[in-house]
Amino acid sequence: MEAVETIIGIDLGTTNSLAATVFEHGPEALRPPGGEAIVPSVLTRREGRWIVGREAREQRTTHPQETVFSVKRLMGRDAQELQAALARLPYRVEAAQRGLVKVHVGEEAFTPQELSAEILREVKRNAEAALGKAVHKAVITVPAYFDDAQRQATRAAGRIAGLEVVRIINEPTAAAIAYGLDERKKGLVAVYDLGGGTFDISILELTGTVFKVLATHGDTELGGDDFDEVIAEEMRRRVREKHPEMVLDDPLSRQLLRKIAELLKIDLSRALDTEYTLELPGKGLDFKDGFNVETLNGLIAPFVDSTLESCRLALAAAGKSTADIDEVVLVGGSTRVPLVRRIVEEFFGKPPNVSINPDEVVAVGAGIQGHLLAGGRRDYVLLDVIPLALGIETLGGTFSKLITANTTVPTQANELFTTYVDNQTGVDFNIFQGEREFVKDCRSLGRFRLKGIPPMPAGLPKVEVTFLVDANGILTVSAIEQRSVMEAQIEVIPSHGLTNDEIDRIMEESFEHALDDLNQRQLVDFRNMAKAVFRGIDKAWKQARSILSEGELAQIRVQMEQVKKATGGEDPVALKAEMDKLGELTRPLADAIMSQAALSELREFFAEHRAGED
Ligand code: ADP
Ligand code: MG
Repeated sequence: MEAVETIIGIDLGTTNSLAATVFEHGPEALRPPGGEAIVPSVLTRREGRWIVGREAREQRTTHPQETVFSVKRLMGRDAQELQAALARLPYRVEAAQRGLVKVHVGEEAFTPQELSAEILREVKRNAEAALGKAVHKAVITVPAYFDDAQRQATRAAGRIAGLEVVRIINEPTAAAIAYGLDERKKGLVAVYDLGGGTFDISILELTGTVFKVLATHGDTELGGDDFDEVIAEEMRRRVREKHPEMVLDDPLSRQLLRKIAELLKIDLSRALDTEYTLELPGKGLDFKDGFNVETLNGLIAPFVDSTLESCRLALAAAGKSTADIDEVVLVGGSTRVPLVRRIVEEFFGKPPNVSINPDEVVAVGAGIQGHLLAGGRRDYVLLDVIPLALGIETLGGTFSKLITANTTVPTQANELFTTYVDNQTGVDFNIFQGEREFVKDCRSLGRFRLKGIPPMPAGLPKVEVTFLVDANGILTVSAIEQRSVMEAQIEVIPSHGLTNDEIDRIMEESFEHALDDLNQRQLVDFRNMAKAVFRGIDKAWKQARSILSEGELAQIRVQMEQVKKATGGEDPVALKAEMDKLGELTRPLADAIMSQAALSELREFFAEHRAGED
């Protein structure tokens, strides 16, 4: 009996991609009959047709300009952000519309979304061959640090490939699900993922019904490719020792060295030593030699050690130590290397979970999640975190955070804003993501305008801004003017995203600049506040005459001058002190005419003022 439509899980990797689902006998990667589950994430074009996977990978070095790999690095990024990464990629990438990039393949050019879609199409074909039926729906995984733009790009790739992306989940979360750690209900899990070209460490908290990514760290330029590279270099050195005249820098030699290096590395995951042969008849080279695990370990140890630094940083960010970790999960083909396993075990002080194939574990977790979604079993939800704060620009270029970093999704936040100019009928919202106090130091995510507000004095409109982040980590911003019930809303589809390094740098900078920023921010805030208070006092001056004595009015005038002087200075603390004095002097006035709308700024000022006093 075919009960429900299958929702497959797909691991769309930088190096390799594959699908999995849950069968009667349990979850399994989807292999086409006689074929393999893994599709190398490499593609090329021949006679107007795509060639995806192993065959494309074979020609990576001989046809570098037409062979596209590591598309995942380009997803949701613009040309400027990709500069460093592009220097390392042999194919041509150029800026296209709205901050998108396009990759040249022969005469044509494609967006990363289209290229990823071709990989997904191949994975989908494999899945359909394995299942013997058409597949329309999938859960796709992304790294935990992927931002809104990168998730959107992944979703778009799915759509292009003819897949409804039912859910986007984090790779480490998928790995934890695959190990059934959700059923264990409570505890901390470290997911160590070393793939072909990237390393990620994630600290997850499992609290009964909830998976929460407490922290992630990593290196977007570290992985098994680096191991291959140092092995190839060592082989090159050995050849040169015997044949000093031999240069092995041409594409064909590089391809051979790379391929032999990877095979040798894989051999040494199972044996203590191995042999290799380098045959280049064109160069008259026929070189045989042995290679042992000690040599390999010596070459790769610096890379493995550097992953531990990321582990330390992630633990620190999560406020945990290795002793707090209940389970360690290994993900990614490169965790098959015995040295990696040993060093990770030593670091965490416990043997890691390795029973599920590390190449497949992410896809398997996504497949389980897809199965649960298809069957409607919802006894737990997945909660991921927002990597950097989300908010809007307010007066003076300040960044008002509505949602702080590390908030779990889905989440919602509201805040009230008002106008600064009389009769303003429209308000612009500039949405930013970052950790600094000023928007110039944050990343712009998008903007929109709320129009049709009836003319009112400044400070009267009450604009409620709502940030809603859904379970996929995608942000929608809406604004409503409460008196007139005018509404506007956008789904934020940013044109670019943040790199792991950028996120680190932003975090570091925000720490370094925290004090400077805070001073500047306070100055701007207090100056704005002073302006609003002055406007309120001016408007109320007539009534003030009937409420306050001449002496009190004179005192207020004098104190207003003091505040004005302090707004010209650079000391927020001094300004605040003068504002406080003015607040004391005008309080009887405000209390007396509290009901008058024209004094709303003053009221707001006091409200904040009081709230800030404790
Ligand atoms: P990604 O997540 O980047 O798509 P994978 O998790 O598929 O990558 O890992 C690919 C990497 O794993 C490659 O560098 C490959 O050489 C390496 N790898 C696969 N199997 C083994 C093995 N048995 N021993 C060592 N490395 C391996
Ligand atoms: Mg992976």
